[in-house]
Amino acid sequence: MQRRDDIRNVAIIAHVDHGKTTLIDVILQQTGIFRDNQQVERRVMDSNDLEKERGITIFAKNASFRYGGKKINIVDTPGHADFGGEVERILNMVDGVLLLVDAFEGPMPQTKFVLRKALELGLKPLVVINKVDRPRSRPIEVHDLVLDLFIELGAHEDQLEFAYVFASAKNGYAMREFDPTIPEDVPQGTDLTPLLDMIVSEIPGPEVELDGPLQMVVTTLDYNDYLGRIAIGRIRRGEIRANQNVAVLTPDTAPKRQKLQKLFGFEALKRVEIESAQAGDIVAIAGLENVTIGETIADADQPEALPTITVDEPTISMNFQVNTSPFAGLEGKYVTSRHLRDRLHRELLSNVALRVEDTDSADAYKVSGRGELHLSVLIETMRREGYELAVGPPQVIFREIDGVVQEPVEQLVIDVPEEHMGVVMEKLGQRKAEMQNMAALSTGVMRLEFSIPTRGLLGYRTEFMTDTKGEGILTHSVAGYQPMKGDVGGRRRGVLVALERGDTSAYAIYNLEDRGTFFLSAGVSVYEGMIVGENAREDDIVINVTKKKQMSNMRSSGADEALRLTPYRVMSLEQAMEFIADDELVEVTPKSIRMRKRVLNKGEREISEKRRKSQMVSAAATA
Ligand code: GDP
Repeated sequence: MQRRDDIRNVAIIAHVDHGKTTLIDVILQQTGIFRDNQQVERRVMDSNDLEKERGITIFAKNASFRYGGKKINIVDTPGHADFGGEVERILNMVDGVLLLVDAFEGPMPQTKFVLRKALELGLKPLVVINKVDRPRSRPIEVHDLVLDLFIELGAHEDQLEFAYVFASAKNGYAMREFDPTIPEDVPQGTDLTPLLDMIVSEIPGPEVELDGPLQMVVTTLDYNDYLGRIAIGRIRRGEIRANQNVAVLTPDTAPKRQKLQKLFGFEALKRVEIESAQAGDIVAIAGLENVTIGETIADADQPEALPTITVDEPTISMNFQVNTSPFAGLEGKYVTSRHLRDRLHRELLSNVALRVEDTDSADAYKVSGRGELHLSVLIETMRREGYELAVGPPQVIFREIDGVVQEPVEQLVIDVPEEHMGVVMEKLGQRKAEMQNMAALSTGVMRLEFSIPTRGLLGYRTEFMTDTKGEGILTHSVAGYQPMKGDVGGRRRGVLVALERGDTSAYAIYNLEDRGTFFLSAGVSVYEGMIVGENAREDDIVINVTKKKQMSNMRSSGADEALRLTPYRVMSLEQAMEFIADDELVEVTPKSIRMRKRVLNKGEREISEKRRKSQMVSAAATA
């Protein structure tokens, strides 16, 4: 084993809006990849709306540049905990992490999960305290907050002595020292050299075997229409060449000989075709059919497998079906069952923790994934691409183990200000969580650790955010399967269902407000069977939300607008997914998220409900 000194592989961890895109742009400019007069391809590591909403990176991207004779690869990290081990796989390609923190906001909870993983893997952390030019920024304090965070996350002693720079990415400078007595708008640095030097001197080059037969584990997959499946990973040993014959294998499977077609390296923000690459390089390989995560790509004549990386099994499934609502096809571009099927199958080519199965119906697919976020991100992505679909409620995947039905159980870590602890413990108790640990973190903040069935977690995040006024942090990951824990309670209330198609009127909503909480306001198009609110009681009721005021004389027109309606509750996709019951669906289109009864007509719904009940009775009688 030896260290390669001409290369550095670094992951970047940043909360949305702390300046990652700006920093990468400026690094590329200052290292000569973007010339001053070149206005091309800026902001490629930019985050999309989905990421902004959740404060985490969902789609990881790469960038690379050269500095001081070295090639530096910056790998973006996803901020979520759910997708079957993706964070760990990405962190396995790097030797250090760059934590980017806003000098005003300080470290944010959403970055904690990835940071904790990075520290656990023993990676070397570097810290960039960005936006020091911002009025009221507090760089020195934020540095101390980062140190507190590292202590809290259990960093090793040498990780606690992390190197750091203060920076203004926007103005293109960084420095090791910061003088808080100088006004913010006076630059204390000239360019990003202190940061670039720090990366090169602090982060070790990759440990590799340059000689010896080729070995590389596939850590991520990509797909495009021209190249097909693309395998990405860091070469561990030897050299790889375009058009080379290789063997694809795992410790448990026999080598399959294949010829790789194209080989790509990363330059700036693009994949570029290259002829060869050595151990330590991160490469993308096209032309290996059916290659998958965790397989080793090895020398064809001396195939030796590396330990495989496991992709965690799905724990949740949902039915995705064609949108059959009366408003189907009005807002989306792709609406047929064929569109849906093709899109889901395309997703399988790179989304490794996802499964798609056919169902009894030609118009519905069972989609399974690693937690709710995994599936909601897919749905959100599809609607932004122009798809319309309907989805049923998430179902936990049970397994029979040793003759006993078992369910997924998660390790739940909650950081919460003391004043909100009571309500959190109470709600989690009802949801069958068992507390395993409790410790004071910093001033007034407690860390609680629980084991909780996935079933109990469903729908909890929204409640948690409300209960802790957005100050709590909740991370969870599947710990394994355990025998069923019994009822998780939390049966929700019934719903308010629209009687007929039309536009909601302020008059009708005003008069029905005491029935429960509305999900929409006046002037919204609804259809028969659409869910317009939550009932205050347990049963469902059908209400006339489109009723207009009878005009007794001419002058009362316009009086409608004067009614003061109680604010309604906006339901996000995730909230809607968690809210619906078995006999309901979420209708998703590029413009709307609606909830509906599966059976729209009231009379038909009653018949189908009776039929379901009598089936249950006869099933019980024969049992
Ligand atoms: P990302 O979401 O982490 O990629 O963040 P961006 O790079 O898109 O930056 C978010 C916002 O912060 C943008 O409006 C930037 O112009 C601004 N920004 C980035 N770096 C700095 C900085 O050093 N100083 C100030 N004042 N603003 C910055």
